Amino acid sequence: MGIEKISWGNLMNYLEVSQALFEVASRSSRMLVLSHANPDADAIASILAFQRVFASDSRTVDVAIGPGTIPATLEFLPDLDRIQLIGDLETHEYDLLVLLDCADEGRTGEVGEQIVIELGKRITVVNIDHHVTNREFGDLNIIDPEAAATCEILTLLFEANNVEIDSELATILLAGVQGDTLGLRTPSTTGRTLDVSADLLYAGADLHTIVDYLFRVRPFSTIKLWGQVLYRVSMHGPLVWTEITPEMLEAAGADESEGEGIVNFLAGTAGARAAALLYQKPDGWRVSMRSLADDVDVAELAGLFGGGGHSRAAGCSLEAGIDARNRFLDIVADRIALSPASAD
Ligand code: AMP
Ligand code: MN
Ligand code: MN
Repeated sequence: MGIEKISWGNLMNYLEVSQALFEVASRSSRMLVLSHANPDADAIASILAFQRVFASDSRTVDVAIGPGTIPATLEFLPDLDRIQLIGDLETHEYDLLVLLDCADEGRTGEVGEQIVIELGKRITVVNIDHHVTNREFGDLNIIDPEAAATCEILTLLFEANNVEIDSELATILLAGVQGDTLGLRTPSTTGRTLDVSADLLYAGADLHTIVDYLFRVRPFSTIKLWGQVLYRVSMHGPLVWTEITPEMLEAAGADESEGEGIVNFLAGTAGARAAALLYQKPDGWRVSMRSLADDVDVAELAGLFGGGGHSRAAGCSLEAGIDARNRFLDIVADRIALSPASAD
């Protein structure tokens, strides 16, 4: 599978970087693989896939994420119980550190960032990601912003190295691709994303289960949460926005990850140029942003507040309080307003 495919524009690159990755990994006997806080399907699937490929009798591979809960929509994935929280790691004695789907070290959370910096001083750091805003903080940086998901990159790397992809690994990888592309519907979806998805289907991926869990089946608590959150929705100029408070989570019996799909839903609001979902937390707001408008780059907007991401999906954090929230709404609404000259 794979290497005969000359349709992949950067196949030579993938061969080379894949060799580099497997060479570095072959020297490791105790590997730590991390992904970001508030993990999404791509983050969880990437670390699980990595563990499957690289763990062996002679190599332990620990996998961990920054603070946040694993979304219930991913409960069909195998080995979820192997995932630890970075803050709970019992040892930091590793010989290789791998970050997946993280644009910078800070995406692993405060504790994670300290561990990454500390380990980075003495061991090799591998950084595999598809965010344009990636800071290339690793010793080996495999960054492909053309990829719709980190799992797309991993599939290409595994294929280039002739890794045998069984049906469970294929399901894990396809879950990451489906999650980040909302079921192959985002503009980040390319012909190569479809090629990779087809390869994974041929390898036995269970697309039906992935689609049901990621996009259809929801706990009742999620439905109750959405009801409250959508009830509060409003337009701030051309920005459609709403918020999730701790009280709303408690009333619905939901956790924060159950709000994930709301901002994508809001982005489809006719007349809105961008959508924002603000999660109120004790130490400030976590913001998720989306846009369907070609001329609105939410990564740039999130960057104004120290965040980042992709042009269509990005995020940032704000300090606590209603003033900080309102300032964010004003600045974003102002930035995305169509100027009279550009409105035709
Ligand atoms: P989310 O809204 O949490 O689904 O995130 C959308 C995209 O923006 C993802 O690709 C994230 O990796 C990225 N992102 C979210 N929050 C941040 C942040 N604080 N800094 C950098 N990138 C972020
Ligand atoms: Mn992610
Ligand atoms: Mn991703």
